[in-house]
Parts: sequence; C-alpha cells; structure tokens
Amino acid sequence: MNGAPAPPIRPIDCDVHNAVPSIEVLYPYLEDHWRDYLVERGVTSLEPNYYPRGLPISCLPGARPSSGGPPGSDLDLLREQVLGGVRYAILNCLYSIQSIHNEDWAAAMATALNQWQVEHWLDLDDRLRASIVVPVRSPGRAAEEIERWGDHPGFVQVLLLARSSTPYGKRHHWPIYAAAVRHRLPVGIHAGGVTENPILPVGWPSHYVEDYAGAAQVFQTQLVSLVCEGVFGKFPELRVVLTESGVTWLPALLWRLDKNWKGLRSEVPWVDRPPSEIVREHVRLTVQPFDGPRTAEGVRRVMDHLGSDELLLFSSDYPHWHARDPYESCLRHLSAESQRRVLRENSLATYRLGPETGPDGDGEHG
Ligand code: ZN
Repeated sequence: MNGAPAPPIRPIDCDVHNAVPSIEVLYPYLEDHWRDYLVERGVTSLEPNYYPRGLPISCLPGARPSSGGPPGSDLDLLREQVLGGVRYAILNCLYSIQSIHNEDWAAAMATALNQWQVEHWLDLDDRLRASIVVPVRSPGRAAEEIERWGDHPGFVQVLLLARSSTPYGKRHHWPIYAAAVRHRLPVGIHAGGVTENPILPVGWPSHYVEDYAGAAQVFQTQLVSLVCEGVFGKFPELRVVLTESGVTWLPALLWRLDKNWKGLRSEVPWVDRPPSEIVREHVRLTVQPFDGPRTAEGVRRVMDHLGSDELLLFSSDYPHWHARDPYESCLRHLSAESQRRVLRENSLATYRLGPETGPDGDGEHG
C-alpha cells in the first residue's frame, strides 16, 4: 500500500482494527434487557473518540468504506487492502466497552462484541484472528469472558487498553492474567482507552497532538507496574504485547529501572533478577509506529539498544495512518534473518497460531 516496498515474506500483522459499523449489529447478541437499555438511553455508538475522525491520520487513503461505515468496518475492503498480503491478521477491535462503568452492561457488551467478531469476521476468513475484548473494570467478569472464548481457535489474545483506572500490575487485575495463561493467550495492551484519570500524568492536555506525543508515558507506567508488582513472577508463562507504543523509549526506561532496582530491590523481593531480563523474556512490542531514526544505521543502532530482534512484532495498524509503512521505515534495514523474525517467527512464538507448514507457512510467498 502507498507504493512502499513489500516484505520478502507474507507477515503476520499483529495490529489490524476491525470496527463495528453500527451498534445495531450487536443487537442479535444482546438480551432484550440490554437492547432496550441501548434504545431507551439513545446509545447509538461506542466508537472511541480518541481519534479525530475527520483528520487524514485517522484513516489511510482509500480505506474509508463506500458504505459510509467507520474505517475497518468492511471485510471486503480489508481483504482487498490487507489480507492478500499477510499470513494472518490479528484484529484489535477498539470499541469503548472498557470505559463503561456499569459492570453488567460492560460484560454483556463484551460478550456480544466477541460473538459478533466470531460470526462476522473469524468465521468468514481463515486468515483472520482476533483479540478477546473484556470488561476490564471488573477483572472477575473479564476472566469469565476469557474462559468463554479461550478455547476458540480464532481468538489469540486478550485485549486491554493502555489507559486504565489503576496500574495493570495491581493484584485486582491478576484474574485476567490467570485466565489468559490458562488458555495460552498473551495479553495485548493497545494505545488508547478512556478512564476517569487524566490522559497524561500531570493532568489534562488541551490537544490531540499532546495526547499522541505523550502516549509512550502511559505504556511505560504500565510496564513498570507489571514488573514491580511481580506479575511475571506470579505468571511465568504470561506474555504481554505492547501495541502501538513505539519502541525506542524501552532501552532508556530499562536502564533506569535496572539501575533503581539495584538500590531498591529490598521492597520488591519478588523481582529476583534485573527488570530488563524479565521484560526481554515476557514482553513484545509491535513496530507500528516505528519511532526511530530514518537511516539504516540509525535503525540498526535502535536494534542494538533493544538488545534482541526477538522483541518486535510486525504490525500495520490498518486502517489508521499514524506513521509511515513499518517495513519501509524500519524492517527493510535489518538483516534477512531479523526480518523473518519480526515479520513472522516472533509472532508464531508469541501467539497460539498453530504449526506453520506447507507453501502458505514455509516463509515464502504462498
Ligand atoms: Zn492500533
């Protein structure tokens, strides 16, 4: 797309957004009570409002459906623009269920949304996989939702949003991780989310641009919380995928975290090795947007600072247009071996995608 160079193998795209065309499509999956609730209260959409919808960055050129629905709501267009070029696409549906305060309503909406994802996406194209949307404000109900869908082969991840009411390392979130691990599902933390907290650490900014530029701060806070609260010690099989976080902030954060852990480790005795080791084992990051330098040498230096080419997963963030194509901006500068890892092998090691055999799965264009 956009005339960018094509990857040498069909990648696994770990961040594609499917959108709910209208709230009515969820009605068949809701009990009468909740359908009436939506109608009586005039709830017409839970489309997230943290994208300025009319601006070009919210949608790639040509990705707006002719039907008039939101970008990402048309499967045929997705097939045409994404699925022909990938091995799998992992759908992250950003519908603002996570911001609903009514715990029963949020749980009902999550179940309806996931059922809709099965029938209108996963069942219709075997290149699609999806993330389980959960009512994150009630972790017990979120765990129930993971149990409901955890054995479905189409669901390969649990989706959380980066902004939360409390840091994700806190104990009350742990039922989510326990359920995810039971089903061998990584937990994806995607940019965005709406909570009662200001979106930046010192209060509310005035503009979208401040929000976008500050997004990495939220991911940093969540990552430090997950490590310091001992989540990865409690759940040694847990994998976390930071999605749309950028990547170049990680080495500096890990330097500070390792350094301060050395002096303060007595208060977190469960963090029994340098945090950088824990993060490199348990955490992966998607490459869109790639926030590094534009030169080949600069990209290789970023990889050197990250310390491993196993940390990164390919993603396009379709249909959003927040950055240049990640193959063009980053991956083409890496060795052939590193490219294969980022385009496909790291994802196969992270997600429950099954064995890759045959012409479609052997790493060449199928
Ligand atoms: Zn995204």
